[in-house]
Amino acid sequence: MTEYAKFQPWLDWLDPRYDQTLERLKNWSAINSGTANTDGLEKMADVILPAFAELEAETGIIDLPDGTAVSPGGDVVPVRYGKVLHFSKRPQAPVRALLCIHYDTVFGPESPFQSPRLIDDTTLNGPGVADAKGGILTILNALTALERSPFASGIGWDVILNPDEETGSAGSAPILAERARAADFGMIFEPALADGTLAGARKGSGNFSVRIKGKAAHAGREFYAGRSAIVAAARCVTALDALNGKTGDATFNIGKIDGGGPVNVVPDTAIVRFNVRVATHDERHRAEASIAAIIDQLNSMDGITADLHGSFGRAPKEMAGKTKALFEWVRDIGGDLNLDIAWKATGGCCDGNNLAEAGLPNIDTLGVRGGLIHSDQEFVKLDSLIERAKLSALILMKAGAGELPASFLKTEI
Ligand SMILES: [Zn+2]
Repeated sequence: MTEYAKFQPWLDWLDPRYDQTLERLKNWSAINSGTANTDGLEKMADVILPAFAELEAETGIIDLPDGTAVSPGGDVVPVRYGKVLHFSKRPQAPVRALLCIHYDTVFGPESPFQSPRLIDDTTLNGPGVADAKGGILTILNALTALERSPFASGIGWDVILNPDEETGSAGSAPILAERARAADFGMIFEPALADGTLAGARKGSGNFSVRIKGKAAHAGREFYAGRSAIVAAARCVTALDALNGKTGDATFNIGKIDGGGPVNVVPDTAIVRFNVRVATHDERHRAEASIAAIIDQLNSMDGITADLHGSFGRAPKEMAGKTKALFEWVRDIGGDLNLDIAWKATGGCCDGNNLAEAGLPNIDTLGVRGGLIHSDQEFVKLDSLIERAKLSALILMKAGAGELPASFLKTEI
């Protein structure tokens, strides 16, 4: 093992940044940046950009094209995503890291959960404090330490902060994939568990809507002339649910049904919305085939048409090969800092799935330690703000010092 002491001065340099980091985290938590709240996302960008100016990086603000969704009325409507913030330094360096996290949260402007509150000296509750505004600050702190160190010249980096992760990164996915292909390893700053455990293997995930059209008719005068989209939707739901337990570990969750109206009208529109999670690529292909067969069955019903909207936005991330080797390397680095780095599989997914699909080995829970995310009990453990920045700073400095295992490096063409 190499001398760890040579990195120490720049790790120590991070300690006095605690107060500023906590202050920023409180301020940033109080800015609503729910996905699709483009005004709030803009306000977040307005505080992130000056904070990241400290890194003196090439800065890009990338407008994402609108996506589409199926409205409750069955129309395909545009969805606005906001902007990706991109920072880049030393693209020609021999080693390149990609650091990513999202700056949207699951709490929209209508949520009652809008501001941070100290629970005690070590715990801050607030929207996005762990997921993932604490992660943005972890990136900033780790990179400022790296940039002050003599090891910076050996590593180039890109930071991608995206505005649409909480709804599946549909808009930013092409940018993540493009940057992933240019990097040697990836670091994503989703929160670790409160005890520091990281996420290992992750299931893949797809969100789907089945749009079903029947034929409206008066329920009293010509009931038999109608074709009920809701009855077809009910068959669709039971058929989808029956796939659970029959496709390996894949799960099919019907989350929402839209459709119908006055009860004296045979309903002509219904939408079934569901989420599928798969542990392997094979499960994904089997799930896709089963869903297609259900759509075919619906279309064979008299007077009913059905079409499928959506796809697997995220492929499964399996714990094998270079991904596993990267975890082992980082576990050793954690050991230098007296951090016990363990990981476990999860059914949840994040942009780590996207990077893995693009072939980039990555660790995706290098953010702060925290928990109860996606609820108004979301919290961050404050002693992890600097602790996790040091872990990432040490990973980056070691990579810059030429200590990244050689098998990660891409062959120059
Ligand atoms: Zn997150």
